[in-house]
Amino acid sequence: METVEDVTRMHLVGGNLALDFINTRSGPPVGPSDDDVLTGYPELVAWGVHAGTLTGSEATALRRLSRDDPDGARAAFSRALDTRDHLDEIFRSLATGAAPGASALARLRDDEADALAHAQLERGSTYAWVWRDDHTLARPLRPVVHAAVQLLTAGALDRIKGCGGCRFLFNDESKNRSRRWCSMDDCGTAQKMRRYVAARRTRGGAGPKKA
Ligand SMILES: [Zn+2]
Repeated sequence: METVEDVTRMHLVGGNLALDFINTRSGPPVGPSDDDVLTGYPELVAWGVHAGTLTGSEATALRRLSRDDPDGARAAFSRALDTRDHLDEIFRSLATGAAPGASALARLRDDEADALAHAQLERGSTYAWVWRDDHTLARPLRPVVHAAVQLLTAGALDRIKGCGGCRFLFNDESKNRSRRWCSMDDCGTAQKMRRYVAARRTRGGAGPKKA
């Protein structure tokens, strides 16, 4: 059973909020995922705080709202998982050089229309969408959906990649577009170790002996 602590230990390696949201599911590079830190509405809220899209007081208000309206919270959580499926389909297609399906893109358009209907434009160095006055249970998803649209419309699509060692997706912001791993500490190191062990075996060195 995953806990809120598991959510807050997650490495945010996607370089984009929507990719980090997709990365709440982990597992091998291809095939079904084998782990998921999003197990309920409280974990969704905890992830929002961890990813920096919800303030502490927004999270407290959402937790209270979800306790007062458990059915609404269940529906919002199920909708969030559905959105994650669509985002996964879109960005995993792009990472493999394929075109995302029209229905997933239409669903993203609907989610974005809904998100912007609950947003305001606020001035910083430029104007930006904020969801400060959105007190609905769908609030945690709004910035995720908007980040997905921004990446699709203003990002470099050929920088969207899948990790060579796991199912994480990331936006490759390296200068020469050479990033291959979600993180050097996890998949990068594991891959280096495998290569080192294989090289030792080829040299007839101290690899594991058959009994
Ligand atoms: Zn990885």
